Amino acid sequence: MSLQMSVREVSKTYKMYAGRLEKLGIIKLEDFLLHIPFRYEDYSVISKINQLSQGETVTVQGNVVDIKNEFTRRFKKLQKAKISDGTGTIDVIWFNQPFILNTVKRGDKVSLSGKVGFFGNKLILESPDYEVVIQNRTIHTGRLVPIYPETRGISSKWLRRQVYKILNEEKQNLNEYLPERLIRDESLMDYARAIEQIHFPDSIDNANKARRRLSFDELFLLHLSTEKVKQEWDNVSSGQGFLISKYDNDIKAFLGSLPFELTNAQKRTVEEIFEDLKSKKPMNRLLEGEVGSGKTVVAAIAMYLAYLNGYQSALMAPTEILAQQHYQTIQKLLGPFGVHIQLFTSGEKPREIHDSGYKIKEKNHKPARRSYASSVAGGSSIINRKSFNIAVGTHSLIYNKVEFKNLGLVVIDEQQRFGVEQRALIREKGNNPHLLTMTATPIPRTIALTIYGNLDLSMLDEMPKGRKIVKTWLVPPEKRKGAYEWIEKEISQNKTQAFIICPFIEESESMVTVKAATKEFEKLKEVFPKLKLGILHGKLKSTEKEKVLKDFRNNRINILVATPVVEVGIDFPNATIIMIEASERFGLAQLHQLRGRVGRGDKQSYCLLFTESLNENTLRRLKSMESIYIGAELAELDLKLRGPGELQGTMQHGRDFLKIARFSDVPLIESTKAAAKIIFNELDKYPALKEKVLEVNSKKISPD
Ligand code: ADP
Ligand code: MG
Repeated sequence: MSLQMSVREVSKTYKMYAGRLEKLGIIKLEDFLLHIPFRYEDYSVISKINQLSQGETVTVQGNVVDIKNEFTRRFKKLQKAKISDGTGTIDVIWFNQPFILNTVKRGDKVSLSGKVGFFGNKLILESPDYEVVIQNRTIHTGRLVPIYPETRGISSKWLRRQVYKILNEEKQNLNEYLPERLIRDESLMDYARAIEQIHFPDSIDNANKARRRLSFDELFLLHLSTEKVKQEWDNVSSGQGFLISKYDNDIKAFLGSLPFELTNAQKRTVEEIFEDLKSKKPMNRLLEGEVGSGKTVVAAIAMYLAYLNGYQSALMAPTEILAQQHYQTIQKLLGPFGVHIQLFTSGEKPREIHDSGYKIKEKNHKPARRSYASSVAGGSSIINRKSFNIAVGTHSLIYNKVEFKNLGLVVIDEQQRFGVEQRALIREKGNNPHLLTMTATPIPRTIALTIYGNLDLSMLDEMPKGRKIVKTWLVPPEKRKGAYEWIEKEISQNKTQAFIICPFIEESESMVTVKAATKEFEKLKEVFPKLKLGILHGKLKSTEKEKVLKDFRNNRINILVATPVVEVGIDFPNATIIMIEASERFGLAQLHQLRGRVGRGDKQSYCLLFTESLNENTLRRLKSMESIYIGAELAELDLKLRGPGELQGTMQHGRDFLKIARFSDVPLIESTKAAAKIIFNELDKYPALKEKVLEVNSKKISPD
């Protein structure tokens, strides 16, 4: 067996669980060991039975004097045991866990951790964690017990057993890979011991030391891989520098055609981008901006400059729906200036779609700078793939054989949805094109720089004028009917539109999700007999999606019922209401993204959150949406309010970026960065370390 083996090959059980394990990031056997507990249950104090008192959480160890199944009056099974440790005897009960009798037998030495209760006049242990003690070692009780991020069907207890077993068998294969000097200078615990102590610590102090060592590694490797990317990028100077002042008037004309003035933040960002585009060294810039801050138009300006310089651009978006929308937006913005835009969506032939909803203002219309064989209006004519100026699409831009003649600029929207690999592949379609990535994920500057190597950062930290805060309410279930009536009234009186986001069921847009959405859709049609409803989900055909989006854009649909996976980026300024079902299943930052679908025009907009949850913490968490309107603040609050373990079953995009280190640990971020800068130049001296860096590079995913 090897730690590098895929779990699927290791055992039948793992193979069966492979899908679930993958959700936890466990793909190779080694990943079990890198699945880090997020806290420990302190069961380390072993108490004498004759010294217990009610309400304590304790561990007792002793022999099983008796154990049996019993039926209660309600036909539920009850497991009763008697345990003696020499100082006394205590009764233990479990409810409905008859399988306990398969492992725990009379005469066994057992270890039990749990709460001391009071029942029928005496102390008992109620539903304790239990295990049979073999060779005086315990995993689940009588020690600091690791609690892991879980997922449905994969419990901490199960994970603990696997980790324990793998550690036993493979510990000698956990080789140190950091330079000795570094370990000494930084007083780091050695690698194998750190892995062991992070899972089964002898003390909290050791757990902390292990955590520090592994956090160090994580950040250090990240910095090294970043250095590598940076070096590669810095060595490139063979890109294309764009001319700018020559096209001042064209850019001015374009800005003049917009129905709004750019915000100061947009102006500043455009300047920063232009500065980069001048240079032969390709731009690598991340544009970070709150939902609705107006990133698209900034990208459009950059793409227009590329066009003016005679270069093609690619705009890549994570979903087909968003790609279609971008196509329409860019068409509307740049079409009148003679720019030829083409949409590429998954697996299909390149084609163009037309949206009669867009009225191109005549006065904006300027003669095309270059003439092309096929015009946007043509549609049925055969398209020369190389004849477009801007290709808009999904991943299909990479995987389809989309050919570029001279790709000069790549824009990646919602870049957190793409892997490093995909970002690199799209750039390979050209000769070192400039790169602009965009995200609404709030990442602090220092951290963004750490993660993304030598990229430069622009922040749209200002919302367009006239935007109103989206009024948000957590609506109690008994007011549901009232909410429906209110929505109907709003729509018919103010001619606005609404989104209803169906309950989130699974991370992927599976048939289960689609079915649930369809059912909800049918129900809602009865709730709103007077309104026109449309449904949007990922399993619709492209043409169906197109039609729905178009009908919604033209206000032929009043309410768009949608699955949660379609949320990112879509922009319908006339929609002012978003109602979100099962909101407890989203992170606050995601809810904020969803909420950002409305409030994009100057009309007052509303977000109604529904939940069936009665959990006080959950309600408090959701309630914070009513008063906090800053994405970054919500993201942070979310981390505080729910432990990582509570993320199970909720909607998260991508996996957690950092497994163990904390982004708030600035000193460690800085010291690892300094160390990485030094070691990077002598990386060849440390082959094991070098290999790790390559590994990190290949699987690096972005934060979300
Ligand atoms: P995001 O940054 O979330 O991608 P978009 O680019 O989709 O946001 O822009 C959101 C909406 O704001 C769009 O309808 C866009 O036309 C509009 N918008 C962009 N910039 C401005 C501005 N300076 N003033 C007013 N509206 C703007
Ligand atoms: Mg956007």
